[in-house]
Amino acid sequence: MMTTTLSMTFEQETNPWLAAEARFDQAAAELNLDDGMRKILSMPTRELTVYIPVQLDDGRLEVFTGYRVQHSIARGPAKGGIRYSPQVTLDEVRALASWMTWKCAVVNIPFGGAKGGVVCDPHVLSDSELERITRRYAAELMDIIGPERDIPAPDMNTNEQVMAWFMDTYSMHARHTVTAVVTGKPMDLGGSRGRAEATGRGCMLVTLKALRRFGLSPENCRVVVQGFGNVGGMAAKLMRRAGFKIVAIIEWDGAVYNPHGLDVEALLAHRKETGSIVDFPGGENIDRNEAMFLECEVLLPAATENAITSENAHRIRAKILCEGANGPTTPVADEILAEKRVFVLPDILANAGGVTVSYFEWVQDRQGFFWNEQLVNERLAEIMDSSFDAVVSYADKHRVNNRIAAYMLALDRVAFAIKLRGIYA
Ligand code: NAD
Repeated sequence: MMTTTLSMTFEQETNPWLAAEARFDQAAAELNLDDGMRKILSMPTRELTVYIPVQLDDGRLEVFTGYRVQHSIARGPAKGGIRYSPQVTLDEVRALASWMTWKCAVVNIPFGGAKGGVVCDPHVLSDSELERITRRYAAELMDIIGPERDIPAPDMNTNEQVMAWFMDTYSMHARHTVTAVVTGKPMDLGGSRGRAEATGRGCMLVTLKALRRFGLSPENCRVVVQGFGNVGGMAAKLMRRAGFKIVAIIEWDGAVYNPHGLDVEALLAHRKETGSIVDFPGGENIDRNEAMFLECEVLLPAATENAITSENAHRIRAKILCEGANGPTTPVADEILAEKRVFVLPDILANAGGVTVSYFEWVQDRQGFFWNEQLVNERLAEIMDSSFDAVVSYADKHRVNNRIAAYMLALDRVAFAIKLRGIYA
């Protein structure tokens, strides 16, 4: 097991599973966790690999590889999204599953952690091909998922429609409609109000808490956002409404900049119309590889893993790093950012708004009673506020950075649950 980040090669530092292990090791050492508990917490409970035969639209047969990793069920059913991408690997899914365990524990909701993925490129697949992949994948997972067992949700390149197909397939096998088997569903199929905005809203809520530590107000905060999707797009929209100046948005095909603040809703409309954020009349095109290093108060990476590594961390000029994405910062970059005194809102806290409202969705589905948006947002704010306070007070008490504090808090809670339950033999 990796215990020091200093000896990591670039390949190791950008391997999500090794990155997760490095943080885990540090937090476990700070907590003085015994070796047995470390072994239990560091390994997943279950990993399933499935091969998904699908007939493509042109009649050819193809076989796609899918994974589902359940990292922990100590505090409740496993919970975590499903991503469709050609880059999906078992190591990535394993890391993401463990992050879900820690994330659910940080915000203290009664779930364990899981993640799934299918190695495919949704951009070259038709909707009907995607539907067939989803349905067969769901059918292959039947024995290990369910409202009491493991509850999937959307992640990169999966959406409400994919969740509707997933729920329908599970329900056909169960012979009755089981809305609580997935979250992130369309509103008409048991989705929750406020779910679509939840992750971005959570990012904004913890950033607002961090601002108070710096004596800053949103009006004098410049924000740079990488990734203009579900998380980044919503965070940018809500933060602008709260008075922040969104000075730059970075996407895979370009970046736009306006020192006075971009009109985020107009930029969303421009992207909808043209398919890109580039050439937005309300800003100037800038180099997408340089935009992350603009001077700003808040940097919000909300695209993929490994955006900030040993190769570029020294160039970051933000006061606060709010991790909308999962794993955007490598362990080696963490150390560089600590030296630069960047205040990091770690992913397992900052983007936990999504899973929190997923939990609300699951609760509402099981009760068959739905809340209004105000109630969802109030309860989300309560949880994000108290989780921020818990992480920061852990960091102050144990003199560790916020990320290690968040891991310590999570490990402590999961270890406590395992101790109470005992080991079944
Ligand atoms: P998304 O697919 O909706 O959006 C991602 C956006 O990032 C897309 O617009 C894409 O074009 C852009 N992008 C991809 N690579 C890029 C690059 N190299 N540079 C700049 N932009 C790039 O996905 P999402 O749901 O917003 O998820 C983004 C991240 O947030 C992922 O790490 C995901 O695991 C994490 N996350 C999502 C949620 C959620 O509720 N959706 C919750 C917690 C964490």
